[in-house]
Amino acid sequence: MIELKSAQEIDRMAITGQFVGELLAELSGVAAVGVNLMDIEHHARRRIAERGAESCYWDYAPSFGRGPFRNVLCLSVNDAVLHGLPHDYVLRDGDLLSIDMAVGIDGWVADSAVSVIAGTPDPADLRLIEATEVALAAAIAAAQPGGRLGDVCAAIGDVAGSYGYGVNGEFGGHGIGRTMHEDPHVANTGRAGRGMRLDPGLTIAIEPWFCHSTNKIRYDEDGWTIRSADGSRTAHSEHTVAITPSGPRVLTGRPTP
Ligand code: MG
Ligand code: MG
Repeated sequence: MIELKSAQEIDRMAITGQFVGELLAELSGVAAVGVNLMDIEHHARRRIAERGAESCYWDYAPSFGRGPFRNVLCLSVNDAVLHGLPHDYVLRDGDLLSIDMAVGIDGWVADSAVSVIAGTPDPADLRLIEATEVALAAAIAAAQPGGRLGDVCAAIGDVAGSYGYGVNGEFGGHGIGRTMHEDPHVANTGRAGRGMRLDPGLTIAIEPWFCHSTNKIRYDEDGWTIRSADGSRTAHSEHTVAITPSGPRVLTGRPTP
């Protein structure tokens, strides 16, 4: 079931989204060479507690993970792309880190992700991150009232194709609002003009993620961390977006450094 949100409810989600955007920007600055992933996780836990927010990840127990998730961040390094488990690992020069976070404040949820490089970037990694950001921007631009969900999905797939990256069909974006995952599924590829109509009040998380040289994935033993099947590098970008009568509204915008 899809619940359209009122303008007031979208404003409430925007309060959560602002916190998520600000914290992700802060964590991006923390993620430097020599920093342990657990320090980034604990930094986020402190901030979330101070704000009185509630992590949507803590105790999250979908069918694929082994046991409930006991972290507030997904931290995915290099070939890991989604659901990376924060663990005892010190970032090295050139590591590509994706930080993904969803929290609720007063019952309204926002979800966002960003990919960054620790230390010296490899140009190929910068291009991969850029592709996810360009795809996200194109998908947001396509999220117009009266349009179709397929417009959003196709925008992502088109950008991936223009960069020469494949798209995996197993994981994509989702409706969001009172909980982290609501209907509809927002695939990272599709056909423009198809699918459900984008009515004002629809709130979705749009999250393109690409692997450098494959569209296949594999899972770690823990059932959580998802990696590129061929070990190539990966990137992920995500925003929570509301369809409004005047166009798409990004709810998780980040302050520019
Ligand atoms: Mg996310
Ligand atoms: Mg998401």
